[in-house]
Amino acid sequence: MAQFPPPIESPEIKYTKLFINNEWVNSVSGKTFPTINPCTEEKICDVQEGDKADVDKAVAAAKKAFSLGSEWRKMDASKRGLLLNKLANLIERDAQYLASLETLDNGKPYLASYFGDLDVTIKVYRYYAGWTDKNHGKVIPIDGEYFCFTRHEPVGVCGAIIPWNFPLAMQACKLAPALACGNTVVLKTAEQTPLSALYVASLIKEAGFPPGVVNVISGYGPTAGAAISEHMDVDKVAFTGSTEVGQRIMMAAAQSNLKRITLELGGKSPVIVFADADIDTAVETAHFALFMNMGQVCTAGSRVYVEDSIYDEFVKKSVERVKRRAVGSPWQPTTEHGPQVDREQFDKILGLIEQGKQSGAKLMCGGKRWGDKGYFIEPTVFADVDQNSVIAREEIFGPVQQIMRFKTIDEAIEKANDTKYGLASAVLTKNMETAMKMSSAIKAGTVWINTYHVLAGAAPFGGYRMSGQGREMGEYGLRNYTEVKTVTMKISEKNS
Ligand code: ADP
Repeated sequence: MAQFPPPIESPEIKYTKLFINNEWVNSVSGKTFPTINPCTEEKICDVQEGDKADVDKAVAAAKKAFSLGSEWRKMDASKRGLLLNKLANLIERDAQYLASLETLDNGKPYLASYFGDLDVTIKVYRYYAGWTDKNHGKVIPIDGEYFCFTRHEPVGVCGAIIPWNFPLAMQACKLAPALACGNTVVLKTAEQTPLSALYVASLIKEAGFPPGVVNVISGYGPTAGAAISEHMDVDKVAFTGSTEVGQRIMMAAAQSNLKRITLELGGKSPVIVFADADIDTAVETAHFALFMNMGQVCTAGSRVYVEDSIYDEFVKKSVERVKRRAVGSPWQPTTEHGPQVDREQFDKILGLIEQGKQSGAKLMCGGKRWGDKGYFIEPTVFADVDQNSVIAREEIFGPVQQIMRFKTIDEAIEKANDTKYGLASAVLTKNMETAMKMSSAIKAGTVWINTYHVLAGAAPFGGYRMSGQGREMGEYGLRNYTEVKTVTMKISEKNS
């Protein structure tokens, strides 16, 4: 394993206020809320609780920063790229601290924070830094004596509402393309994990972004989040979270100002294991697909379909692997598995495990709380799961693997697509034809072949059906933050 700096187990909490117009301010209401350590169930600290009044202030700051003639609007596109690269460098400078803060607030193993979340975050900022001066329009040869061209303009004030499972990476996926295209942003963090984004806000200021370009609000969804999605001066909202809240955001956009929206929502992603796959590698891939980040991943491979002839062996080996999964303190380098993020998720997952037991599925291992403190849940495997049972259909967002059987490729396709979601999927096989046939048949935004959870700043990501709207990341991700303006000028003589 690559060298890594040790975790800071009690990182100093430097920022707890709201970040508006490059200043640290208290909430208008004076309210605060606690953020909880999921390992101990104890309070880490109180943070300022943003509400509609604070969102109004942040949107006003973002609007002013976006106004014509502002420092941000006049800034050369290449300079925006320099600022984004500087921010990436500052995050890299403080990676040890930020990874520690993320582990404290979220509970994920420190090594995953350091090598996973921080790595993705830094790369996404660098990737979009390179796009700032490359998102340009076209000259279009329309009929008549006209000169016609398109301008790629920023959309304006962008709201970003992010979840708690990858706070730093989610922030980067929203901020980096928005800023690369020249927008301004009001970002609301998830109430479970406000701390890392506040520290990044301090780095945004240190990097030299002008006041109001990025504003960060800690607060709850139905108050601060709803205020963003309903706001008449917010031109776009990028949301990652549950399908249910995504639907609310779409309605709020429709009922307010028809703001543009992109939604990255839930999933119930299939992992289809064919008999010709190397079984040990397939077991490990399916294990990683589901248990990574304690199952708290929208792309979690939560429906594993295994070809009949290897089914029993696959189940046996999967259970052996799960029993070896190292659960414990996220500060230990050997730990693979920490707590769930909060009491609500913990209770919800245990409730779904009960439903699984009652559905007739075979509980092969796990199924209970782990330890007596913190929101730890034993890594759990259900086999012989009924395709129509709740655990095969609903997103569990926890460490609960469902294994099912198929006999033919057509049955695998039918079962894989028998869901309201369409975020990710995987096909594990050595047969190229099978892989290609499956990759076109599966209705999902991502198909992984013989791998899982490979995401990159350069590769688009998003969902079919109720898994979302639009694509984030990569060149496609720029479209969400760009308005196309057509300019047509009458000319006296056309040369071509
Ligand atoms: P999860 O169930 O994973 O916590 P949510 O969809 O509830 O996912 O939350 C994701 C983000 O959406 C969080 O920042 C949360 O505060 C926010 N949120 C929740 N409800 C609303 C709402 N009604 N309007 C806007 N944002 C919301």
